[in-house]
Amino acid sequence: MARNPSPKKRIEELRAQISHHNEQYYGTDAPEISDAEYDLLMRELRDLETQHPELADEQSPTESVGAAAITTFDPVVHRVPMTSLDNAMDESELRAWGERVAKGLDGQPVRFVCELKIDGLAISIRYENGRMVQAATRGDGKVGEDVTANVATIRGLPSVIKDAPEVLEVRGEIYMSTAAFQKMKAEREAENLERVLNGRAPLSVPVNPRNAGAGSLRQKDSAITAQRDLSLWSYQLGEVVGGPEFTSHQSTLEYLQKYGFPVNPEITMLDSIDSVLQFCQTWQERRHELPYEIDGAVVKVDDLAQRELLGFTSRAPRWAIAFKFPPEERHTILQDIQISVGRTGRVTPFAVLEPVFVGGSTVGMATLHNRDQVAAKDVRPGDTVVVRKAGDVIPEVVGPVLAKRPKNSKQWEFPSQCPCPVKSTLVKLDDVADTRCVEPACPFQRDQRIIYFASRGGMDIEGLGERTVFALSDAGLVADVGDLFSLTVEQLLTLEGFAELSAQNLVASIQASRTKPLPKLLTALGIKHLGPAAADSLSSHFGTLDAIASASTEELSSVDGVGTVIAASIASWFSISENQNIIQKLRDASVEFGRVEVSTLPHTLSGKAVVVTGTLTNYSREGAENAIKARGGKSPGSVSAKTFAVVLGDSPGASKVTKAEQLNIPVLDEAGFEVLLETGELPK
Ligand code: NAD
Repeated sequence: MARNPSPKKRIEELRAQISHHNEQYYGTDAPEISDAEYDLLMRELRDLETQHPELADEQSPTESVGAAAITTFDPVVHRVPMTSLDNAMDESELRAWGERVAKGLDGQPVRFVCELKIDGLAISIRYENGRMVQAATRGDGKVGEDVTANVATIRGLPSVIKDAPEVLEVRGEIYMSTAAFQKMKAEREAENLERVLNGRAPLSVPVNPRNAGAGSLRQKDSAITAQRDLSLWSYQLGEVVGGPEFTSHQSTLEYLQKYGFPVNPEITMLDSIDSVLQFCQTWQERRHELPYEIDGAVVKVDDLAQRELLGFTSRAPRWAIAFKFPPEERHTILQDIQISVGRTGRVTPFAVLEPVFVGGSTVGMATLHNRDQVAAKDVRPGDTVVVRKAGDVIPEVVGPVLAKRPKNSKQWEFPSQCPCPVKSTLVKLDDVADTRCVEPACPFQRDQRIIYFASRGGMDIEGLGERTVFALSDAGLVADVGDLFSLTVEQLLTLEGFAELSAQNLVASIQASRTKPLPKLLTALGIKHLGPAAADSLSSHFGTLDAIASASTEELSSVDGVGTVIAASIASWFSISENQNIIQKLRDASVEFGRVEVSTLPHTLSGKAVVVTGTLTNYSREGAENAIKARGGKSPGSVSAKTFAVVLGDSPGASKVTKAEQLNIPVLDEAGFEVLLETGELPK
């Protein structure tokens, strides 16, 4: 059995590893491990050093800040050092800091300044007699890099300030907004696709706004920085000569604001650790509502005299703490890339990952969307990849960690055949991103159509999930959705996992679904392009499935919300003999073809689109949408300029909130939603 290394050896190992990662992170903006993994290494080292004070070393990364400046830029000596921050990972660590502060101040009352921890790059910008003369990164806290020309390109940063003191150093965080990052990423992916198609190696894709922002700021050519749309939040003063005397942090922020430096509007003054904790927790939940990324909150003692009393450790002030949010980005191994076949034959590549806990859940699989996305990201089986799961967004494989790519790795090739037993040739047309299996007999497509039919948005058949559908299909009991209605308890009992009661329940829920309203049935058929909204309009207009089946494309496309593409797809679906057989089986099973629920409620929302996001207390998602539709309104899945209002529940979708803000769409809470339903008007 391998023995654990001695504490001395482990400490040496950790110091070497951390120094290496510091160089990668601060020097090249291309980290090899995620921040979460880095924080674990740091924590282990700190714990070992506490247990073994005899092994202390002032060169240890736990005693220092960042990494020494690299040679590309001229060095800048900070006259006032730029420190780091100690961090608290949870409530108890934050409270322990609060107690240390209270003790250090002999129980004096303390006012805390709570700020957002901007996930960017620390900067110090020096003005002499009102002119910007120098901007420097933090480096190792004592010596940074001269990035003046690059910082000068940042919009919103004054190059000259009036009535300024002799020397004024403004400190803060340079960051890239989420929108600027998405734009840069999309451009890089498009460029990569072009390169790959021309047989050239793809460029690395920026994985997050912090790395993209840091990389953009540390360009040798400031013209490149200028294109990258960087921003600044200022939160501190460095050296000040000939300026006023300050007594509080708040007054320094007001001073910065007076000179036109951007100060974050969310900064809040609080008097107790309980309310500080509340601030941290609120922003942990709301972090995705911001148009830039934060990785925590920073809590600072406001009174500058109290700060003097508390002082500094070798790397950080004792009067401040960073409350870190749980990581939303981790590194893991991409074990394989496989493809799945959807109900319309669309083939989607997906990543099989070594399971990793990120963004609040364990992620073992993630979609890679389509062939072009895989090519643009150039992720390969065996790669270490960055996986990101932010809020309620689906997990994403952001890109590979190139430094860890195994030797002899080859670009992944999209399979040419469908993985189903028919093994038909997959088709990709040049002008669309999707690859398709066009074989109508493909059993994988067939299974997916049955799963879709039974799903929530369709006939909502309880107990008929993916696994049962596969079992029914493998046993040859069901070849299409029409067969479901003739299933018997005896047949189900032949399948593994079914007992008398579960078999009876499934048969009962299949039979019960026969009375589902027409829009549900129509959606459940899985006709390409036909979603629930168009199914609603068609049902109200035609009244029965037979009327829809026999309508011409002109008649179909004249219905509100049904364009020519949907109309053609419906007509084509009903013209296929296999589908006509399905309809016949449904008819034989007495599935209702004409149940349209008519609302008797007043049409307060006639013609209005109301988007619902997040969890409401008194309505399920479907319930809220039905309440809107029953009053004549629409409830689309995304926010646009035509949206009348957005209803926000708990944990709303970040993109919807941001879009609503951008487009100035009114945002309502649940109480406001109820007023809207009742009156059709926005609450006063
Ligand atoms: P830090 O990021 O935990 O906190 C200090 C920094 O926070 C400051 O220097 C400042 O730049 C920033 N900050 C943002 N908003 C602020 C505000 N309102 N007030 C004050 N400061 C604010 O510490 P650090 O020393 O900069 O970096 C350590 C962290 O960097 C690690 O915890 C890890 O997340 C990451 N890191 C990762 C790797 C890697 O390989 N993945 C390597 C090194 C560091």
